Amino acid sequence: MNSKIKNRIYLDYAATTPLDPLVVKAMEPYFVTKFGNPNSPHGFGQEALAAVDLAREVLARFCNCSMGEIIFTSGATESNNLAIRGVIRKYQQIIEKPEIITTRIEHPSVLNTCRDMENQNMKVKYLSTGSDGIVKIANFKKLITDSTALVSVMYANNEIGTIQPIREIGKLLENINKNRKTPVLFHTDAVQAAGTLKCDVDYLHVDLLSLSGHKIYGPKGVGSLYVKNGTPIHGIQTGGDQEYTLRAGTVPVPNIVGFGKAVDLLIYHQEQDKKRMEFLRNWTFEQIVKLMPDIKVSGDLNNSRLANNLHLRVDKINGGDVMFLLDTQASIAVSTGSACTAGAPEPSKVLTEIGLNQKQSQEGVRVTLGRMTTKSEMKKFISCYIHAINTLKE
Ligand code: PMP
Repeated sequence: MNSKIKNRIYLDYAATTPLDPLVVKAMEPYFVTKFGNPNSPHGFGQEALAAVDLAREVLARFCNCSMGEIIFTSGATESNNLAIRGVIRKYQQIIEKPEIITTRIEHPSVLNTCRDMENQNMKVKYLSTGSDGIVKIANFKKLITDSTALVSVMYANNEIGTIQPIREIGKLLENINKNRKTPVLFHTDAVQAAGTLKCDVDYLHVDLLSLSGHKIYGPKGVGSLYVKNGTPIHGIQTGGDQEYTLRAGTVPVPNIVGFGKAVDLLIYHQEQDKKRMEFLRNWTFEQIVKLMPDIKVSGDLNNSRLANNLHLRVDKINGGDVMFLLDTQASIAVSTGSACTAGAPEPSKVLTEIGLNQKQSQEGVRVTLGRMTTKSEMKKFISCYIHAINTLKE
């Protein structure tokens, strides 16, 4: 596995990651020889089912839950849709107009789903985010009414890498739920957090948790949703009874096998990955500050930031221009924001939410490190980044 293919340097691990060769190896037989449908009762089917079960067991270990609480999906976009739409659909049978609480810094798969809920006459309330990129939970209790059905707050942000107080919110909700007939459910999108943070659902006090394969050296097109036993939720697509009736459709066995293998490797690598990337990220930032004291970082730079995220900004220098120069002149891949919104002409909603003006929110450059990022790659990045900024300043 090498992100330095033909001297190219990849520093956009928040957008996606390459597959670990061990993941590819684990997947291979399930394309050609072990191709059975896990719902078939014969030997081919049972062989595929055993592989899916093994992956489910690994996911359950990672999330500290039981196997029956893991639902495989086509990715975290679907997991987030299932969590929000599925819970609201169920709660509509109990509450006339179920309400949702979320934040304005969520991934579009949550934000746009909530927007769709608003279009369907549901009420969505937004927790505000401080200038440090962390949601403010001081006024959280005031947002909760008898109609609140679901709270959805991401574990870590995909642009500025800020880690949200999930455990604190989870504990708060647990206390609130003691006095309610219908509990307020708690969902977290843990896609960006999974690479370096524990996703123990008991510790986090969550009812639903979304993960994606391709952010953790697994394949694209597969994800999971942890659904706590007894959670009121309805499937959102009709079809067969797969995935405990919550997600109709034949499961993508090779992808699930790859996802399971990636999580298995993650359990082994996570602590070491975190330490390495944090060290490299901090070192990189120190070098840049020495050479360019006017550099700015968006989001918290202390404990509440993902170990692999650096979000840089220089006044009056457009982030898209920096990205373009790094890509075309040095073959270094960074990003201006989330890959899901990178094509959008508007400024980053995350950056405007944390208080940057329109112009400033177009100045950001997201640098995200990965398991195989080396110090020599970061050295090259530092000199090319400084060079790009100086070129653009001239
Ligand atoms: N949530 C977050 C925080 C993400 O970063 C992403 C991927 N950009 C998603 C959800 C969507 O995941 P997927 O690509 O698996 O649909």
